[in-house]
Amino acid sequence: EKSVCSPLPVLGTEVTVPLVTGGEITYAALDYAASAPALKRVWDDVAAYAPYYGSVHRGAGHLSRLSTELFEDSRRTVAEFLDCRGDDEVIFTRSTTDSLNLLARALPAGCQVFVFETEHHAALLPWRHARVTVLDAPRTPRQAVRTLEAALAARDPHGPALVCVTGASNVTGELWPVKELAAAAHAHGARIVLDAAQLAPHRPVSVRDLDVDWVAFSGHKLYAPFGAGVLAGRADWLHEAEPYLAGGGASRAVAQRADGGVDVQWHESEARHEAGSPNVIGAYAIASACRALTEAGFEALVAREQHLIRTVREGLAGIPGVRILSLFGDDAPRVGVISFVAAGWNSSHLAAALSAEYGIGVRDGLFCAHPLLRVLLGGDAQSQGGCGTADAAVRVSFGAGTPDEHVERFVRAVRELVESGAKWRYRTENGRCVP
Ligand code: PMP
Repeated sequence: EKSVCSPLPVLGTEVTVPLVTGGEITYAALDYAASAPALKRVWDDVAAYAPYYGSVHRGAGHLSRLSTELFEDSRRTVAEFLDCRGDDEVIFTRSTTDSLNLLARALPAGCQVFVFETEHHAALLPWRHARVTVLDAPRTPRQAVRTLEAALAARDPHGPALVCVTGASNVTGELWPVKELAAAAHAHGARIVLDAAQLAPHRPVSVRDLDVDWVAFSGHKLYAPFGAGVLAGRADWLHEAEPYLAGGGASRAVAQRADGGVDVQWHESEARHEAGSPNVIGAYAIASACRALTEAGFEALVAREQHLIRTVREGLAGIPGVRILSLFGDDAPRVGVISFVAAGWNSSHLAAALSAEYGIGVRDGLFCAHPLLRVLLGGDAQSQGGCGTADAAVRVSFGAGTPDEHVERFVRAVRELVESGAKWRYRTENGRCVP
């Protein structure tokens, strides 16, 4: 059957991989939530820029000046993509994890942090040096808002406070009521940071409309590889904080003191938290992806993705013993991230068999969200330490560029494997399937 094309082609759809049963098959990358394939457009833009690459903010040469312009232009493109306020800052980081850790270092003294236990570890853990209140998993979006309101109402109203919340879950794909949570935070004098790692690739994110104080996301999940991420939002806390990384670029003036120490004046722009030579290719790739997504239009991308979600959810629902994991229920709006368990199956064996027999790349484990998996699996999840090492669930995720054939092959494969009952045919060794 002919596959329906996405408005945004990605790299890698022609790659073939060997099958354990012999022969080869085109690889079905269904692990976008971990790292999405690069858009062809991003790759082409980076290739066109490559000959002009030079050091940023440092060189006097023509290419250095050009790179600096493109780097700063990338910042403006990201600010537009996120619909930032005029005085917001866009800081280029390595990733969402890096962005949230940066913000955690910039918390004002005595800041109280509120976070749901359902968060990805990147959003759950960076605040551990602050006063953290971890909120119980809500079972509806409304309950999420009520839980947050109750916690904020009970807080010391005079001190600073921050709420950290995901826009879309990396496990269930479910959308969180960000706008309502932001309103609750502000009504109680708290600020809010949005973890948009899974939201930004699938939905438009407007800082103004959601009224969030900061947004964090990763380029490699937004169809732009090269190890770059973004923290965008309010400048005040960031300007008052010591630099996240101390070094060149962050400092305006440095002088040795008579007593042998060093005096430093830090920058008060984005540069304050971008010490060292920045990842100009990474920033440029993110900007290229932002432009491509905006031009394709989220409306078309969402419509296509909802079609893929229906195919997967309806397909899995029809397989005996398969349970799709959900916090907010079947009708919750969601992005193309779906986790499930199959009765009697070890999830890592199922994922290994999908790869070995069908050329399908998914992820299994606890998805760096151990407390959430415990809630979803009813206490059955066992953490063996580290991400992805425990047997818990299988996650399939997709987006722009995913052909129908990939999700159809996936549903057929799960059905065939579950019906065959051949669950012990494979074991995994160092993440590889061993027949
Ligand atoms: N938050 C969410 C919701 C995520 O899905 C991820 C990545 N799985 C992260 C944060 C961390 O992103 P990164 O690994 O790019 O730092």
